[in-house]
Amino acid sequence: MNIRDENVLRELNLYPLWVRRDMPAPAPIVEQAGETVPQAVPPVQAMTAAQVLPAASGLDWTALKQQVRDCTACKLRAGCTQTVFGVGDENADWLFVGEGPGADEDAQGEPFVGQAGKLLDNMLAAIGLKRGATVYIANIVKCRPPGNRTPEADEIATCLPYLQQQIALVKPKLIVALGKTAATSLLGRDATLGSLRGTVHEYQGVPLIVTYHPAYLLRSPAEKAKAWQDLCFAVQRMNA
Ligand code: URA
Repeated sequence: MNIRDENVLRELNLYPLWVRRDMPAPAPIVEQAGETVPQAVPPVQAMTAAQVLPAASGLDWTALKQQVRDCTACKLRAGCTQTVFGVGDENADWLFVGEGPGADEDAQGEPFVGQAGKLLDNMLAAIGLKRGATVYIANIVKCRPPGNRTPEADEIATCLPYLQQQIALVKPKLIVALGKTAATSLLGRDATLGSLRGTVHEYQGVPLIVTYHPAYLLRSPAEKAKAWQDLCFAVQRMNA
């Protein structure tokens, strides 16, 4: 193992590493406490695609980017610096979906560029992936919610068509939902993150796996081992 790999695993609290001959078994489906961040889960019925406001379906990349840039369909746009569209390989096999831009992302116009992004990059590196190389990263909402609050149901419902069209264009082989907001928004139902882990779900016909949000892992480093299990599970699914 080289120094860089060691550093990645150290960052994930997984070093020194005891190497198993097989990948770890998928995490069992057990009901457990979800993320401890106090946040209201938007009502599921408010997140269905039927409430689509912006017409994003059928747009190509150029038109979709323009539409997102010009979007004022919900109240988030008035409070943010710029929209944060998404980044990476537009033909990626892997799509990682977060919740919404934070302060750093709002300033730079790119998802996951702050501390959580650094950890996400290390999580990607731990499974041999790299931002931009067969990986696309996007968020549920494209505008930073004030004070980094959880996006509200109407904001999610308004913004989701953009992500739906990003998925239609990227055609990923696997979606990894990072955290409860991404998972429940895409799956259209409320559930604890713990109960959603370890299962291959589906979104728009694409297999979807759920893991912890990197920001949560920064606050709860002891959970990194579970995130590692999820990543191994995702790799298994991708290689199946
Ligand atoms: N958290 C997210 O969910 N997305 C980002 O882009 C940054 C932090």
